[in-house]
Amino acid sequence: MSDMRVMTEKKKKKPMTDKEYVEQEGMHCPFCGSNRVEGTGCINADGAGALGPVTCADCEKSWYDCYDLTGYIDRDTGYVEGNT
Ligand SMILES: [Zn+2]
Repeated sequence: MSDMRVMTEKKKKKPMTDKEYVEQEGMHCPFCGSNRVEGTGCINADGAGALGPVTCADCEKSWYDCYDLTGYIDRDTGYVEGNT
């Protein structure tokens, strides 16, 4: 059966859930747990989201940090919130 391979790939889980990754503030490799992770390029913003390339110096895996647009900051005043 040719779709056996697809079936097993579908069952693959992420090594760490997004929630766990966020709880560790993206400071640990989701594949091996190392904290020797580093950003390897510019964050690509696209609409309300952005992707930042990251690699692990220990297991040499690479992935993207995912960012959501959460607001804006006035560069002149540094104010984060408008209505106070
Ligand atoms: Zn790693």
